[in-house]
Amino acid sequence: MINYNDKVVIITGGGSGLGRAAALSIAQQGGKLVLVDMNQNGLEDTKKQILAAAPEAQVELVEANVTNEEEVKNYVQFTIDKFGKIDGFFNNAGIEGKQNLTEDFGSDEFEKVVSVNLNGVFYGMKHVLKVMKEQGYGSIVNTASVGGIRGVGNQSGYAASKHGVVGLTRNSGIEYGQFGVSINAIAPGAIMTPMVEGSLKQMAGDNWEAAGKEFVSVNPMKRFGKPEEVGNLVAFLLSDAAKFINATVIPIDGGQSYK
Ligand code: NAD
Repeated sequence: MINYNDKVVIITGGGSGLGRAAALSIAQQGGKLVLVDMNQNGLEDTKKQILAAAPEAQVELVEANVTNEEEVKNYVQFTIDKFGKIDGFFNNAGIEGKQNLTEDFGSDEFEKVVSVNLNGVFYGMKHVLKVMKEQGYGSIVNTASVGGIRGVGNQSGYAASKHGVVGLTRNSGIEYGQFGVSINAIAPGAIMTPMVEGSLKQMAGDNWEAAGKEFVSVNPMKRFGKPEEVGNLVAFLLSDAAKFINATVIPIDGGQSYK
């Protein structure tokens, strides 16, 4: 068990999937949370689940769009006004976008995916890093993807944005280590969240569960990852126990990347 007592963590995409799972894990270990999402209902559901599991938890909700730099500045300022510091930042909000061959990939679609997955992550880092540098400590975990370390096919916008997240992570990690700040990325494989369920339904309609089984049959572990498995990894990476891990990318994919 990691000690999160008195630690303050911001999580974007906290209204669903991996963000929610990390929030649950950190709250159960005593962390104070600021959850950010553009989906207010999702945020409220996350808070309900946290309070059911950890009734003493302190959880603040901020509805914001991570593609809007002013809104990003506001959630960072909100956290400082409320708690006076930021120990950890799970910079995670993202979208998958439509699937297509590169030549058929809509330019608007490309820009939309890059705007959320890369610009949003950049704005978050920029404003949180100002605070962490001044404090002289802090940890950031950015959500990349297996699609950020290799090609996945039919997802040019997604793969480009997630490779960008890996570049940002490595670059900033070597810049900010000297200020006591560690910055890493996670590269999840297929984890069963609403995002993945949605894309299976888009591909296979009512047969999505069978399509999912076939999809993971090539995974060495023959299954989807569970959100809580990613949540626990994030909780570890944002904790003091992981302080010397910096500027790296950690796959969590059942071994699929090395197959
Ligand atoms: P999800 O759809 O369950 O959750 C994503 C959350 O981000 C949602 O609550 C959504 O409202 C929020 N969000 C989206 N755009 C936003 C914006 N502009 N501003 C604020 N909030 C916004 O998906 P998930 O699977 O939990 O994905 C979380 C992250 O993990 C994403 O970056 C995704 O690319 C990445 N990822 C997921 C998988 C997987 O298999 N689930 C694999 C690799 C990477």
